[in-house]
Amino acid sequence: MPGNTLYIVVPCYNEEEVLPETARRLGDKLRALMAAGKIGPRSRVLFVNDGSKDKTWEIIERLHREDGLMCGVDLTRNRGHQNALLAGLMTAKDRADMVISMDADLQDDVDAADAMVDKYLDGVDIVYGVRSSRKKDTFFKRTTAEGFYRMMDLLGAETVFNHADYRLMSKRALEGLAQFTEVNLFLRGIVPMIGYRTDTVEYERGERFAGESKYPLKKMLAFALEGVTSLSVRPLRMITGLGFLVFLISLIMILYNVVRWATGNTVAGWASLACSVWFIGGLILLSLGVIGEYLGKLYLESKDRPRFLIREVLDGETDQKDS
Ligand code: UDP
Ligand code: MG
Repeated sequence: MPGNTLYIVVPCYNEEEVLPETARRLGDKLRALMAAGKIGPRSRVLFVNDGSKDKTWEIIERLHREDGLMCGVDLTRNRGHQNALLAGLMTAKDRADMVISMDADLQDDVDAADAMVDKYLDGVDIVYGVRSSRKKDTFFKRTTAEGFYRMMDLLGAETVFNHADYRLMSKRALEGLAQFTEVNLFLRGIVPMIGYRTDTVEYERGERFAGESKYPLKKMLAFALEGVTSLSVRPLRMITGLGFLVFLISLIMILYNVVRWATGNTVAGWASLACSVWFIGGLILLSLGVIGEYLGKLYLESKDRPRFLIREVLDGETDQKDS
């Protein structure tokens, strides 16, 4: 029988509007699961404050004072969703037997946690929360998000379709994750690489409870680029393919020109010449850009900088710092 202490990890960036409600619902959920005997008494909710500019940390401190189930980790600055999540997961790993990660805005159905815990108790190590529909998302969010998964697939970054970062991981799966030391972090792509028994739980994704999305289009595009370039080298290979294709075309063009010249038909068109100069120029710049992307990644990885720094841990036991 595996241990059954559950931690729910929630990254928070400027979430003062939703936090009290999120804490209330997660607290109720933990208590209900404890009462049902599915999780142990040391289970907690762990909020990670990702360098918020509003009162998020003050609220977490207050929640911790009022309710022993609520814990917090304060990062030294904003490091982005993925790093904040990792900080929470790594902090929870040493204290819990299973960890569920969830957004602060209650878009992930809290009730799906029951099914996740059940699967864990059946021996599953990673349970992915998969969105059954996006009816409540705006048309724009839905099409861009689904386009995101398709593009990721096309570019060779394998992810679980319609799965965000709502998932349960066992202690040993987290220990596996800890061994992936990459700085360019894209958890959705790395978690499937861990292995073990996995399963999915479907849930309906609701609207943001309050406040606005911390993922505007600009961040989403950056996230997609990050995902592709940290998971797959297919774009580099595509460039090779493209280069090969252009080379073939140029061979045909040479042949064609020679034939034209031999038949005395050499009224060379300026337009086609100009076009090809632009085309080749664009192609070279694009290719250089892609190579630059990977080179940049390599540069950052080689520095081996810490992915997050913890200012303070509120868990009623220790105050420890790590990275
Ligand atoms: N988040 C974070 N750091 C950031 C941006 C976002 O920790 O720099 C958290 C945020 O508080 C939320 C989660 O990541 O809990 C997902 O963000 P959001 O709900 O804004 O994204 P969306 O659901 O719109 O994609
Ligand atoms: Mg959200």
